Amino acid sequence: MNCARCLICIDACPHEARSYHEGEGVVVDPAKCKGCGICIEVCPAGAAKIQNSFGTDRKELMDRASAFLSTQASAKAIVFACNWSYYPDLQASTLPEAETRDKSYEILVNLCGGRLERQLLMAPFLHNAWGVMVAVCPDDKCEHGGNLRARERVEDLRHTMEKIRINPERLQFVQIAAGDKTKFQAEIDTFVDRLNTLGPIR
Ligand code: SF4
Ligand code: SF4
Repeated sequence: MNCARCLICIDACPHEARSYHEGEGVVVDPAKCKGCGICIEVCPAGAAKIQNSFGTDRKELMDRASAFLSTQASAKAIVFACNWSYYPDLQASTLPEAETRDKSYEILVNLCGGRLERQLLMAPFLHNAWGVMVAVCPDDKCEHGGNLRARERVEDLRHTMEKIRINPERLQFVQIAAGDKTKFQAEIDTFVDRLNTLGPIR
């Protein structure tokens, strides 16, 4: 779709990463863009683009979830973890679980919790996941409300799951301060224990 130059996305960007330049149109400063996706959500023309798209491709995340769930014998859960909260710490982690972690779950890093669409959150269940976890920052720690948008989606989906008689505990939402990898691991372990009690979805 073509940009209508309404400039709505520029006003909506919480990080002042977008600006309008005569002859170029809307330009995004990749150094300022946090990939929160607000511009994409508000653009009435479906034309807003960002350069930093790591961890936002729904198909890629779905494919990775599907590949894990179909190839690991003990696969049970997909954990969507916000890049800004977790990834650098997980990469640098020297905790034993980072090296020998239980392959009952796979952590998929997404650029921002606010980018997790309903379809993506439910996709692992189509590939026999026992559960899905969404991990984002605490309420007052996200600079663009991505954590609140993620919580709203998870709450909606949990209501839907109840209606179709799937235990909503299988979709878990956790908020953990950036850097607290011990708590992150503890939340995952608790979730996997709970899934082991619930068993697969029948
Ligand atoms: S990208 Fe979308 S919201 Fe931004 S100026 Fe163009 S049409 Fe408007
Ligand atoms: S993704 Fe977020 S930070 Fe980046 S340009 Fe869009 S609104 Fe701004």
